[in-house]
Amino acid sequence: MRKGKAHERFVCGLLAGFGHVLFSQEYTVRVRTVFLLLSFSALLRAGSGQGLVAQVAAAKLDPTECYRIREVNLVRDEAQFFFTDGYLIFSKPVGDTPVAAFFSADVEGGEAELLLLPPLRNERRLLSAHTGAPNLEEHFSQAALVFTADTYRELKAEIARNPFNKKSLEMGALLADRWSALIGSMETSFGLRLSIDLLSPVANRKGFVSATIAGNKLGPFNLVFDPRIPEQMLVGNTAEGLFEVWSSFTSKSFRAHAFTPEFTVRDYRIDTVMDADLSMRCTTRVTVKPFLAEAVLPFEISENMRVTGATVNGEAAEVLLPHRAPGLGSAGINEVFVIIPATPLRAAEPVEVVIQHEGKVIQDAGNRVFSVGSRGSWYPNRGRQFARFDMTFRLPKDLDLVAAGDQKEDRVDGANRISHWVTSVPIRLAGFNLGVYDRARITQNGLTIEVCANRLLEAGLAPRAQDQVVNLPPLLPSLGRRSPSEIPTLAEPVHAPAAPKTRLQALAKEIGDAVDFYTAHFGPLQLNRLEVTPVPGRFGQGFPGMIYLSTLTYLEPGERAISGLGGTQKVFFSDLLHAHESAHQWWGNIVTASAYHDDWLMEALANYSALLYLEKRRGARAVDAVLEDYRLKLLEKNENGDTLESAGPVIQGTRLQDAWIPVVYGKGTWIVHMLRKQMGDAAFFQMLIALRKEWENKAVGTEDFRLLCARFLPARSSDPKLESFFDQWVYGTGMPTLKITLSAKGAPGHWRVTGTVSQSETGEEFSAEVPIEIQMGKGRTMTKMVTAGAEPTPFDFALPAQPSKVSIDFRNILHR
Ligand SMILES: [Zn+2]
Repeated sequence: MRKGKAHERFVCGLLAGFGHVLFSQEYTVRVRTVFLLLSFSALLRAGSGQGLVAQVAAAKLDPTECYRIREVNLVRDEAQFFFTDGYLIFSKPVGDTPVAAFFSADVEGGEAELLLLPPLRNERRLLSAHTGAPNLEEHFSQAALVFTADTYRELKAEIARNPFNKKSLEMGALLADRWSALIGSMETSFGLRLSIDLLSPVANRKGFVSATIAGNKLGPFNLVFDPRIPEQMLVGNTAEGLFEVWSSFTSKSFRAHAFTPEFTVRDYRIDTVMDADLSMRCTTRVTVKPFLAEAVLPFEISENMRVTGATVNGEAAEVLLPHRAPGLGSAGINEVFVIIPATPLRAAEPVEVVIQHEGKVIQDAGNRVFSVGSRGSWYPNRGRQFARFDMTFRLPKDLDLVAAGDQKEDRVDGANRISHWVTSVPIRLAGFNLGVYDRARITQNGLTIEVCANRLLEAGLAPRAQDQVVNLPPLLPSLGRRSPSEIPTLAEPVHAPAAPKTRLQALAKEIGDAVDFYTAHFGPLQLNRLEVTPVPGRFGQGFPGMIYLSTLTYLEPGERAISGLGGTQKVFFSDLLHAHESAHQWWGNIVTASAYHDDWLMEALANYSALLYLEKRRGARAVDAVLEDYRLKLLEKNENGDTLESAGPVIQGTRLQDAWIPVVYGKGTWIVHMLRKQMGDAAFFQMLIALRKEWENKAVGTEDFRLLCARFLPARSSDPKLESFFDQWVYGTGMPTLKITLSAKGAPGHWRVTGTVSQSETGEEFSAEVPIEIQMGKGRTMTKMVTAGAEPTPFDFALPAQPSKVSIDFRNILHR
């Protein structure tokens, strides 16, 4: 009975496939579960690739390839499988090698174990939160593996090494019968992924393994080692239909070099035809240059787009689409498809790839207010690469369209509008937006800023019979990660007033002034045109040359929807959002982040830039009020009674889940603020200029940023490489409670202030640099830094006169 139950749970774990998004560059926190179809043949089309996917899916366990084994090991960097005693049965071959195997410890004294040692403190912490221990040491009774040829050869060599290991036909028949269906469902789930390696077995992408393991303590869970994604090691389980990541990291043999995708993309030319219902048919031409000789090209695209055909250098190519169960496909995240050129590609030789794709990525919020889905890419892409874009849109003539770059053409042709846009510099993401717009345009210091506003307000913002604000907006932007369903839709058209022309002019001027401020402090923009367009909802987004702003930002400050908000929320919509999104032209677009671990940098820098601009206009107190708000938010408790800050460090990125906004934006902003205090204002602004210049059109990582900041510290800093600062605030969690004791004595000319600073509610190794503010009267103040630790730290300041006040400068250190 007990065994039956374990079996059932294992089946459940196995059925939760998640292969289709795993090898997408874009990190997905909770990968949606795809329930597998065992009948795959209906999805097949003619062609070698599809045929291969089908063969993978149909490769049953082979009763003649079952072995009684002892001491068979499989090592993938930090992950070690020990198949100590049991049976191992392989699948029938696809081509000349099997693609799957099943292990069973169902013998007297049968045993197997998986060890996984995450190399990073935070990954060990997360693993511990899910499994109760910072390292995985799990005994298991069964494991199902899918892999490609190199892994098969390793396993066979291990079997051959020990003379004890022999074929067992009797057990083979039994295991094949019992487990072939499960292996088949895993093969179906990973068919596309396995086919990439089978068709293009390049040297530096070898060793793919996905294992589903029936753990003795942990129950069913999954471990994936995939050399085609930036974090090769991934372990987690499926809970409530979602894949929950326990730990994910770049594995040992990949850490020495920056991760590169299989090929570079450059010079996109995209032609789009929009139908009346705003579904799109696109022809994307892109120049692709593979690093190695590749037989296939994996791309990512929004799951709301369907690829219908492709050519490579004019020759028709086969397209492998992701396996997708019916009823899925609305979240708009990216998924992978694969192009198989008729002629294999040579290393470093560029080819022109033409891809036909269609679908609907535009949402309608009512009153002809639209938004373009921001979770997935509307055109095929691979990773976060810089490229130039030339985009032509054919759309219903009563709509306006704006896109990144310079508008080369805007004309009406019959019932259609033709809108042609070209970017003058490489950009990382090409956005567009559309609507029925009023426009205001200014040119200021060589930059043209065009603000477009919807003629009508979206239904969610139109004045209502009851004067109320629905859903209090967050103080912090949510950057378009909300699902489209959260955007209010219209039942009845409401003819709400548009933003008046004077407001658009004022908004253009505000953005122009912010851009001038940033240009003066960070260095020049690369683009000479900035389009500002509205999005329904309560967030913004900054694309290169294009800013999406919440429609709330467009309202006059006196409008009800704005005036009904609390003080800091009003500041967010009236002062911060457009300044934050404008700053992304520098942090996020000119300089970009290496990986999701580094995204916090772009958000923190953009947000802090907005605060610098706020400081210039409203003074330091306005900034202090915003920082204080972030601090209080970080101290809010979740349902377990833990602070939101303790969910994880900023580098955990979107994997912070509910704490993502307070930690990445709130704490990230505090981190930049504290770095400024450590450097001093002059050095801090020089650092920002250096960041803009040295990392132009490049991806900066958190460690690069640490080393850059360290160059701008004052001489004789106690933490000259900022290692301690980053360990605590960036790679770690914790906000200290700080206390000061004081005594002062002396005579005119010779004053001494002595005392201690103590820190609590943080770990032993936490040591904050605490700013002590000394007020000397007549508005004269000085700051001294004291390094606090677990024990009270004494200090002794010699002063020329009696101070009027000595205190911890709480405005400049994140604390409880
Ligand atoms: Zn942002």
